[in-house]
Amino acid sequence: PDDIPLAEGATPALAQWFVAKNAHPDALVFFRMGDFFEMFFGDARIAADALDIALSFRGEHRGEPVPMCGVPVHAWESYLARLIRQGHRVAICDQMETPEQAKKRKATTLRREVVRVVTPATVTEDGLLDAARPAWLLALAEVGSGFAAAWIDVSTGGFETMALPRDELGALLARIEPVEACAPRELAELPDLAQRLPGRIAERAPPRDPGRLLREAFGVATLDGFGRFTEAELAAAALALSYVRETQAGALPRLDPPRPQAGAAGTLALDAATRRSLEILRDQRGGTEATLFVAVDRTLTAAGARELAARLSAPLAEAEAVGARHDAVSFLLEAEAVRAALRAALKGAPDMARALGRLALDRFFPRDLGALAHGFARAEAVRAALAEAALPGPPLIEAAQAALRLDPGLTEEFGRALNLEKMPARLEDGGVIAAGYDGELDALRRLRDGAREAVAALQMELAQAWGVASLKIRHHQQFGFLAEVPAVAGQKLVQAPPASGAMAPIHRQTMANAMRFTCTALAELDRKVAEAGERATTRERACITHLKTLALRHGSQVAEAARALAELDLHAAAATLAAEGGWCRPELTERAEFCITAGRHPVVEAVQKRARGPAFVPNDCDLSPGRRLCLLTGPNMAGKSTWLRQNALMVVLAQSGLFVPATAARMGLVDRLFSRVGGGDDIAGGRSTFMVEMAETAAILNQATARSLVVLDEVGRGTATWDGLAIAWSVLEALHDRIRCRAIFASHFHELTALAGRLPELQLARMQVREWRGEVVFQHLVGPGASERSWGVHVARLAGVPRPVLKRAAEVLAALEARARAGGADTLAEELPLFAQPLPAKAVPPSPLHAELAAIDLDALSPREAQDALYRLKALA
Ligand code: ADP
Repeated sequence: PDDIPLAEGATPALAQWFVAKNAHPDALVFFRMGDFFEMFFGDARIAADALDIALSFRGEHRGEPVPMCGVPVHAWESYLARLIRQGHRVAICDQMETPEQAKKRKATTLRREVVRVVTPATVTEDGLLDAARPAWLLALAEVGSGFAAAWIDVSTGGFETMALPRDELGALLARIEPVEACAPRELAELPDLAQRLPGRIAERAPPRDPGRLLREAFGVATLDGFGRFTEAELAAAALALSYVRETQAGALPRLDPPRPQAGAAGTLALDAATRRSLEILRDQRGGTEATLFVAVDRTLTAAGARELAARLSAPLAEAEAVGARHDAVSFLLEAEAVRAALRAALKGAPDMARALGRLALDRFFPRDLGALAHGFARAEAVRAALAEAALPGPPLIEAAQAALRLDPGLTEEFGRALNLEKMPARLEDGGVIAAGYDGELDALRRLRDGAREAVAALQMELAQAWGVASLKIRHHQQFGFLAEVPAVAGQKLVQAPPASGAMAPIHRQTMANAMRFTCTALAELDRKVAEAGERATTRERACITHLKTLALRHGSQVAEAARALAELDLHAAAATLAAEGGWCRPELTERAEFCITAGRHPVVEAVQKRARGPAFVPNDCDLSPGRRLCLLTGPNMAGKSTWLRQNALMVVLAQSGLFVPATAARMGLVDRLFSRVGGGDDIAGGRSTFMVEMAETAAILNQATARSLVVLDEVGRGTATWDGLAIAWSVLEALHDRIRCRAIFASHFHELTALAGRLPELQLARMQVREWRGEVVFQHLVGPGASERSWGVHVARLAGVPRPVLKRAAEVLAALEARARAGGADTLAEELPLFAQPLPAKAVPPSPLHAELAAIDLDALSPREAQDALYRLKALA
């Protein structure tokens, strides 16, 4: 705001710019001037830089040239997209009248107003949206000690809220991946938020009476019908709503009623580090290629893909709800023909939810109306496909099927009204409404076309009457229909008019090679065509508005149908995936068990298949009571982290409602899943690898419960060996004794295997390796027992470490091993039991008695000194 110059002395147009800029100081103002959107002053410098376009200067303001740059209106979307992607907000200040209208009210400047503010979360244009992801706007609020979040997807109308403890904000952000946030100042500064969305947090105070705002927005007397909200949830929801309203210049998109989400209870808790580690929607480098989502996505529609992403981001933790999803997948897996018919009907189905969203904001294109018409037809086709199935189907399928039944009046009218074969790109092109739908529109079009035909006929008559065979009647944007003749013929017409009355030539324009004329007959026809054209356009607009209103009146029904299509797409996709890969339905129980037979890693397997590499080796995993904890050893590259992750992914897949890549799977519901596998470096965050590792380990030890599943790779690797071993040792003990959860723990510290004898629930597993002519061969098989060697030197050779270094390393290793056998490092095994003592709550300093006792060297005492020592000790006791 500081760099907005003073408005005083501005030209009238610039004065309008100042009004817009002062109302939206944190946005770049796109100021419409004819065929361009112009930016001025500081905005122009920022935009010229961001868009790589020329910065120029125009006129003066307070004696200084005004910096300016502009983008053509016909291509504004792509420029806007680039600005939004870079995190800018853009206020669109449009012309609100035509030059004629301005002239009529004797104004020298067109009226201009900000019609919307485009921000990362409030775009609706397809070109600006990711088809497969929602674009959530997140709002935060705090009332008393209650903290809550609400999030809105303007493009589809999705609206959810959640009350949560403040320290779970990071996990929520990782789950919904908002593209923008708004929050009161003190919450906008929360580190989790500020780090994730730099420059994309609008500071706003929550509205005064949140309940009333929400009730009014949804036209209800009470919100009880939507669920139970905390005060903070209401405040967050109202803040989100008012921010959306602000960006839409008062208009409100169609929104679903807010749905309160179960906090910790209903969903599987996945913290940000676990999501990163498991590469659910994003890989560890932030890309989207080698992810769980990509490996399991078999959906056919954008809405189905969004639903899949949402489920993988928030798996459930309730057996019944998960079971209902599995029932739906099972049903479609078995009913193969139904599934095929269903998928045939879904293929290419349009994105109804987003089309409806654009309609509600009056920001739609003909193709959005077309999308609804096509969508309605698809909904009916899908319903017909399901009708072939043996009934009754599972409840989720039945419910979806019921939601697809749309009001016949609505679908019939959309089917009839639109010119679906030849939809124009823009509304103003005309021809959106089909012939035969509206009698009045048909009549006006006939009139217009009739007049056009009359013009064509007049061309022949004029050619004859004026004696110019090459005469052509053309249409000009500004002058309407004019008769064009070659210059020489034109001169003659001017000097000696060949006809009188209605056909007498009237000169209009002279060009280099031609002259243009009209006559009263032509002018009359021109007026008729223009008038009929205008009336036809107006009538068509009325028809379109009627269709829009009709669709919005059935808005929630259409949104429900769109959601049903997305869910069916997802269930059919899950069934297809299971059929393709021989995946099984996981059996979910309430016991603390975890038993996977021949499990695979879906992403690694898919990558290997694509590269036509060796087949993936399936592995079992059994963490049943009595063997809850698994300590895995084995060399690098043997497949440890793959196995760790694949077992964690089983939980994500199963509790999302999908099947799992195994021949059999039985698992007790997991409440929290923790995975620490692979690079956890937070160099950008300024913490060392070891610090990050310890912070994440601490999070697990503080949050995991007996119902959790933990997979940990190489705890303690980031520090000196003894430190690391000590930490790994005590973490393993804590998991075993205190938390008592299911866990897999991979480690290089072979010394840890000594724990197996003392921790009854600990099982040992190792990656099997064969040696063949001095080379290691990884079998990728998990077997019982402990790995006896590290094979580090072998792996170093595989990685191309130069020969002399390898040779030297082998020598050093041999020497170290020899020393260990001679008794040096072996003493470790004797010292280790020390670690097994239950750790005291606080380190207790040694008492003076102990200190005195420890100081006595028994071998060096004479009998006399020994007696003295005893007296001293007695005195201390
Ligand atoms: P580690 O964690 O022991 O260093 P990884 O799990 O990273 O090893 O595995 C190394 C490579 O081995 C993987 O990139 C993958 O290509 C291959 N691999 C791992 N597990 C399997 C398996 N079960 N079947 C086939 N290949 C595997």
